[in-house]
Amino acid sequence: ADFTSYDEATVRKLDRQHVFHSWSAQDLIDPMPIARAEGSHFWDYDGKRYLDFSSQLVNLNIGHQHPKVVKAIQEQAGRLATVAPGFANDARGEAARLIAEVAPGDLDTVFFTNGGAEANENAVRMARLHTGRPKVLAAYRSYHGSTAGAITLTGEPRRWPSEPAQPGVVHFWGPYLYRSAFHAETEEQECERALAHLRDMVTVEGPHTIAAIILEPVVGTNGILVPPDGYLQGVRDLCDEHGIVLIADEVMSGFGRCGEWFAVDAWDVVPDLITFAKGVNSGYVPLGGVIISPAVRDSFGERAYPGGLTYSGHPLACASAVAAITAMREEQVLEHAAALGQDVIGPGLRELAEKHPSIGEVRGLGAFWAIELVRDRETREPLVPFNAGGADAAPMTEFAAACRERGLWPFVHFNRTHVVPPCTTREEELREGLAILDEALGVADRYAQS
Ligand code: PLP
Repeated sequence: ADFTSYDEATVRKLDRQHVFHSWSAQDLIDPMPIARAEGSHFWDYDGKRYLDFSSQLVNLNIGHQHPKVVKAIQEQAGRLATVAPGFANDARGEAARLIAEVAPGDLDTVFFTNGGAEANENAVRMARLHTGRPKVLAAYRSYHGSTAGAITLTGEPRRWPSEPAQPGVVHFWGPYLYRSAFHAETEEQECERALAHLRDMVTVEGPHTIAAIILEPVVGTNGILVPPDGYLQGVRDLCDEHGIVLIADEVMSGFGRCGEWFAVDAWDVVPDLITFAKGVNSGYVPLGGVIISPAVRDSFGERAYPGGLTYSGHPLACASAVAAITAMREEQVLEHAAALGQDVIGPGLRELAEKHPSIGEVRGLGAFWAIELVRDRETREPLVPFNAGGADAAPMTEFAAACRERGLWPFVHFNRTHVVPPCTTREEELREGLAILDEALGVADRYAQS
């Protein structure tokens, strides 16, 4: 089909008649038709431009239409568009080599999937078979994907409709000083108490029954929760003490988002398994996977790993990952993301916090930031209730609409807006976005105690 002849009305009509959308009441949505995209921007059919402060679903780390990644996909399609996973393939091998090269410690082999949920499903399966133990500890305020196992691991309301979920997953509280589950007042206390809590959980659940602890090293959708120094190392030590596999879900935090290849690099902690997707190739072709330690890999040296996918290590996806990782290196995208966080986003958001009574806290690193909105800074009452929908969510929906009106596409979750632009966003673009946030926050301020 020649899509250039499709106008906005046609695109909208096709969508409304035939496309069933994720997470949505089908009759209550009106998805915006997108005409084109470039770098950190996309355009609707009226030519209105949006600066993307959400990186689509926090996956577009390298921006839209990166010429080297597009070219790699075109060339691979012309050469060998697909091949079954049982064969050896140049693009797949090179992608695995590069991913192992940027991975921390001795993690050296890669099992490829189509996305993040499948990566977590397989990491948990590997951990259970490796240890011969049944259970997994996962954090509240986490998102790990929407397949049966991954939604069970998830520690937020998206799990609720799938319950009763699969057996064998127990949830714990991670560190989050602003709303501490441990009544802590300092980062040190929060760290110490969160680790003591996790240690207690392991003791009472029975260490010999626990295959894995899975966590997002910097929690993504549930609030950009940056762990206090020492927390990840403490979890690593606890896992070592009891032979528990540490799984870092770096689906959102990895590949540049934190200004590092992986969030764990910011604390020099080496997990046993890392799950990834999103930023590995910025989603140009679906791709995810598990990066595996030698010990876990060797568990499947003489016995078969019982898992597979028709598209594991798809050549188009792998060729795009090779191009994306290479371009990120050549163009110093990690360094750019780190500097954006340090010099532009962090200071910019702290400046906004001084002006806007609705801002309770700003936190983050790299191109991975959250603004937490409150009705009252003293009590920290959230601007909207937990899991608010419909009329209850009005302050946030009005804030988001104010951003969009002004040409900024925000990421909004509960009482937070996240500032998660492509890691390649230029400083001037970012400052434009912050100026729009400044105006739109006026809407949130109307609901807040000043
Ligand atoms: N893990 C984390 C931390 C995520 O943020 C997500 C998606 O947002 C997933 C897993 C699931 O990935 P996917 O949607 O590719 O299955």
